Amino acid sequence: MRVLVVGSGGREHALAAALAADPSVTAVAAAPGNPGMGRLGELFTVSPTDADAVADAATVFRADLVVVGPEAALVAGVTDAVQAAGIACFGPTRAAAELEGSKTFSKDVMAAAGVPTAQSHSCTTPEQVAAALDEFGAPYVVKNDSLAAGKGVVVTDDRSVALEHAAGCGRVVVEEFLDGPEISLFVVTDGTTAVPLRLAQDYKRVGTGDTGPNTGGMGAYAPITWVGDDLVSDVLQSVVHPVLKEMAGRGAPFAGLLYVGLCLTKQGPRVIEFNVRFGDPEAQVLLPLMRTSPAELFYRAATGTLDQLEPLRWHDQAAVTVVIASKGYPEQPSSGDAITGAEGPGYLHAGTRLTEGGQLVTTGGRAICCTALGDTLDEARAAAYELAGRVTLDGAVMRTDIGLPSPLTGQR
Ligand code: AMP
Repeated sequence: MRVLVVGSGGREHALAAALAADPSVTAVAAAPGNPGMGRLGELFTVSPTDADAVADAATVFRADLVVVGPEAALVAGVTDAVQAAGIACFGPTRAAAELEGSKTFSKDVMAAAGVPTAQSHSCTTPEQVAAALDEFGAPYVVKNDSLAAGKGVVVTDDRSVALEHAAGCGRVVVEEFLDGPEISLFVVTDGTTAVPLRLAQDYKRVGTGDTGPNTGGMGAYAPITWVGDDLVSDVLQSVVHPVLKEMAGRGAPFAGLLYVGLCLTKQGPRVIEFNVRFGDPEAQVLLPLMRTSPAELFYRAATGTLDQLEPLRWHDQAAVTVVIASKGYPEQPSSGDAITGAEGPGYLHAGTRLTEGGQLVTTGGRAICCTALGDTLDEARAAAYELAGRVTLDGAVMRTDIGLPSPLTGQR
């Protein structure tokens, strides 16, 4: 199988690396990819949100399968364009990607499907926002309705901060605050059959000890051992299958990866959000633990044949990824800073580029994900930090507690 991966971050490098290591894959390419992915195969210089250009690249590459990483590409209709070119594509269509593309749509689907989630109101005027804030009380939760690259949600005790965020957004969803540890469940689906992956935990705040602003994610580990086995079957039954049925009923069947962000409240699990693609950096720890062929898994999801997949097989190990980000991340990231030492299989590139002189430099966000497996979580953690210790980047931003119990939850 020839596989084209769409995107250029750490998640896409993890996808490309897992596919390149899959014996059923003969060639991997990326659009547009990054220097790390360039070592695995051909790179096509196209924008990941230019659906026709991606479909053309897939045709030129003679891809049998396209795997789409970023949500913006899915919302832009890359899957629709690739399918129209007669090529299988792992990732939801533009219509189905609205589950992430619009919080209002997502809340509508959840309500219609009877999925447990926070109560909410979709608001377009300051008066509606004020009324909703008062109805639910503090802490206030205000979400930009459309994609905002991880910066769309504000959770605050300060009513004026909540109002100000809403004023800068257009349509927003105001909702009830949910209290409890957060986990993410990843489900691969062809629209009917749903295959849950292992549970992973990411670390969203920039600073060690869960301090500072939210980021795209500073690290992750898998598997999570502190969550009971029934949670996955409970969430499949109460969330995933009702949502798949509701989406099919709306004429927008969902195939691809459904990421269910959950809050484990005292009243039971509640959905915080849906995403329509792998989490970054959760993909970096889940994919290396998978023994099942990722190409077969994704191809079957893309072609409606997941019911024929053997049960998933996993390495009986733990994985940790530690993100090294550019100086000043996330508020004022600098770019063009030299990265050295990130050579070898454990280094997944995120925001990197090669200068004309061949020097690897940052592009102003998360730069390198240091990823390692171990027989225990502590071994994986030690190995990931050993990799991180070999990287030199001026002013690098990195947490030192990835894989340790979160101060927020006391768990790992
Ligand atoms: P989202 O983009 O919807 O995942 O929100 C980003 C983050 O905001 C989540 O991972 C949570 O930490 C937080 N968040 C979102 N919704 C809620 C809520 N209803 N209650 C508490 N925290 C929330």
